[in-house]
Amino acid sequence: MQILRTVEELRAWSRSVRCAGKGAIGLVPTMGALHAGHASLIRAAAQQCPGRVAVSIFVNPTQFGPNEDFGRYPRTFVHDCELAESESATVIFAPSVEEMYPSGAATFVDVEGLSERLDGESRPGHFRGVATVVAKLLIAAEPDLAFFGQKDAAQVAVLRRLVADLRIGSRIVVCPIVRESDGLALSSRNVYLSSEERQQALVLSRAVQCIEKLIAEGQRSAASLMEAARAVFAAEAEIRVDYVELVNWETLLPVNTAAPGTLFAVAAWVGATRLIDNTILQ
Ligand code: AMP
Repeated sequence: MQILRTVEELRAWSRSVRCAGKGAIGLVPTMGALHAGHASLIRAAAQQCPGRVAVSIFVNPTQFGPNEDFGRYPRTFVHDCELAESESATVIFAPSVEEMYPSGAATFVDVEGLSERLDGESRPGHFRGVATVVAKLLIAAEPDLAFFGQKDAAQVAVLRRLVADLRIGSRIVVCPIVRESDGLALSSRNVYLSSEERQQALVLSRAVQCIEKLIAEGQRSAASLMEAARAVFAAEAEIRVDYVELVNWETLLPVNTAAPGTLFAVAAWVGATRLIDNTILQ
């Protein structure tokens, strides 16, 4: 498995693979600190694009706010390479910040409307940073398929809009949320949790399960569903809810009535760690 450091190397790799004409090229963008959730994305990419999968590892500074965890975000490059290789990645793209943001960089991608919703509301500028770096990766790698996790469902909505608006020729593939056996969604930030917080964090997946159960029982009123979800959070006094939302997954705007494809999403602070979870209603 090759490690590429520059955009030029990534572009050259992608073009040579395309010239060889063997099939679709896959890209899996990540910030490293890889876990089983990332592994599932790489596995899906390797199944659909065997021998033609690039995994990017880049802790993107522009998607972190000034008081967020950019500096202490876990960086586990050697482990990441081993995991990516064991899931049959073809190349790793691990650029420097200067490589992705050359001196004087002044171009940013704003997906208006969507960027200010959900996580974008409590993390101003976050989706601008995400959209900018993903646009750069898609332009450089020109993948046929780009793999993202449903874990970051609002991010998926932003990126679908970005790809449609900029007429980028990559298809976004969304992979299911990988969870611990007790329900906690895997996240690189779970390492920040103390053992007590790790228990408290289960309230997020409990809220998701509660909504899935109510939907299965036929409840459709957004007001009732949100009330039920808030009651789940209220039982865990230590948790500070950031948002509990029932939205259209395309527009990220609130709905009055839940329907197939509606996104139920939550974000909450567990101590100093902000976690997210969601479900797409069936
Ligand atoms: P990150 O490294 O956190 O930026 O995540 C890189 C990609 O992995 C994103 O598309 C995430 O949605 C996805 N991802 C993160 N956690 C999970 C998970 N638990 N299950 C599935 N995909 C995930």
